[in-house]
Parts: sequence; C-alpha cells; structure tokens
Amino acid sequence: MKKQFAVIGLGRFGGSICKALSEQGMEVLAIDTNEDKVNQFASIATHAVVADTTDENTLKSLGIRNFDHVIVAIGDNIQSSILTTLMLVEQNVNHITVKAQNDYHEKVLHKIGAHKVVHPERDMGIRIAHNIVSKNVLDYLELSEEYSIVELEAGEAVDGRSLIDLDIRAKYGCNIMAIKRGEDINVSPAATEHLMKDDIIIVIGADKDITRMEQDLF
Ligand code: ATP
Ligand code: ATP
Ligand code: CA
Repeated sequence: MKKQFAVIGLGRFGGSICKALSEQGMEVLAIDTNEDKVNQFASIATHAVVADTTDENTLKSLGIRNFDHVIVAIGDNIQSSILTTLMLVEQNVNHITVKAQNDYHEKVLHKIGAHKVVHPERDMGIRIAHNIVSKNVLDYLELSEEYSIVELEAGEAVDGRSLIDLDIRAKYGCNIMAIKRGEDINVSPAATEHLMKDDIIIVIGADKDITRMEQDLF
C-alpha cells in the first residue's frame, strides 16, 4: 500500500515538500487555513483541504492518526505549530516532522514529542556558508558538531594521483566514500584508484581534518 502523507501549512517550505512528495507518486493530503493556498495545491496533492489544525476535532475528522507521516510546516505562527504538533503526538501519529523557526521553538518541539525537527533556513545558511568559503565544497552534510560528509570537486593538485599516493586516510584521517566521474559513481574506491580533475569526491571525517585536507589538496 502507498504511504500516506499529510502536509500542514503550504508556504514555500510545506508547499515544496507537498509538490516533491506528489511528484514521487506518494499520496498527499495538503492542509492550510488559507483557501487560496489550498486551491493552488488542489491539482498537485491527492487531496487538499481548508482546515485549522489547532482544532482537535478538525484533526480527528481528517483521520490524521491514520497517516504514516505528518509534516508540520507552519512557520511564523509558532503557537499554532506547537499546538498542532502536540495534538499529533496525542493522537499517536507514527512520524511527525516539524519545521522550527528558531532554537527555542526547536527545543519545545522536541520536548513535546516531535520525532524530527528541521530547521531549513539555518541549515541552508550553514551549507551556503561552506560553499562560499571554499568553492570546492559542493555540498555538505553535518553528522554531528564535529563530523561531516562533504562533496569536493577535484582540481589540478590531485589530477592523476592515486589514493595511496595522496595517502588521505593516513595523513588526514578522512575517508573517501565515493568518487563521482560524470554519470559513473565508484563507491568504496580501492586504494589504487586514481583521481581526475573535475571528479566529485565524497569524504567523511572530522571537520578540522576535512578542512586541512581541502586546503592542501583541493
Ligand atoms: P515559508 O515556508 O514560505 O517560509 P513560513 O515559514 O513563512 O513559510 P507561514 O507562511 O507562517 O510559514 O505558514 C505557512 C502556512 O501555514 C501558511 O500558508 C499558513 O496559512 C499556514 N497555517 C498557519 N497556521 C495554520 C493552522 N493553524 N492550520 C493550518 N495551516 C496553517
Ligand atoms: P590504513 O593503513 O589506513 O589502514 P590500509 O592498510 O588499508 O590503510 P590501503 O587500503 O592499501 O592500506 O590504502 C593505503 C593508503 O591509501 C591508506 O593508508 C590511505 O591513506 C589511502 N587510502 C586508501 N583508500 C582510501 C580512501 N577510501 N580514503 C582515503 N584514503 C584512502
Ligand atoms: Ca518563512
């Protein structure tokens, strides 16, 4: 059976989640208090309804407890976001993902039982900052305060050199998880593998080690 999703709040964030889920063939119920927003998503989502999710009876009548995953994308109205989340938790929804507006909001959402809290503006800001600081950092995924996975673009400095030759793990404590070359991807490359200029290298390691390696080699 298809997974059933509900997206509450059809702003830019919730709207794009709704659209992407629909494009991936998922069943999506789109919910907003604003009728114009709902009309906009009527032809995109499986169902689109005007509803205020801070009203417990409304949530119940939508059968929200039967959805596999509910995404709360109410941004500015933090009170509505918290109240909606609380009721989803009380109704035992399996997966609840909520967009946080700031760190306090995030803390409260975790406390009341949201399963996952996302912070898209902050996270995208961090990503873009990494990208601006080093033009070789294409993408960046924070694993913890200290560790990350980074996508780097290979330049002249590593062109034609093997992993043994560069001795990356021994010198920098980082592991190359994969090398992308055009459409090809080499996962867990052998030590004898050579890098080529324009390859995209996916590295896992401590931030300070990745930075050191990036400064020397990329
Ligand atoms: P964006 O993702 O565009 O940055 P935002 O963070 O600015 O959005 P808002 O515009 O504040 O978020 O809220 C997103 C949507 O949530 C709005 O379309 C709003 O109408 C809807 N919304 C707000 N409160 C409720 C509610 N109680 N029930 C349902 N939808 C709501
Ligand atoms: P290690 O001494 O680090 O355990 P190893 O004995 O497994 O390595 P090889 O796998 O032959 O030796 O690799 C030799 C060296 O090449 C490693 O020490 C490391 O510096 C580098 N290397 C090989 N594969 C990778 C990789 N995927 N990412 C980063 N460095 C690598
Ligand atoms: Ca916003």
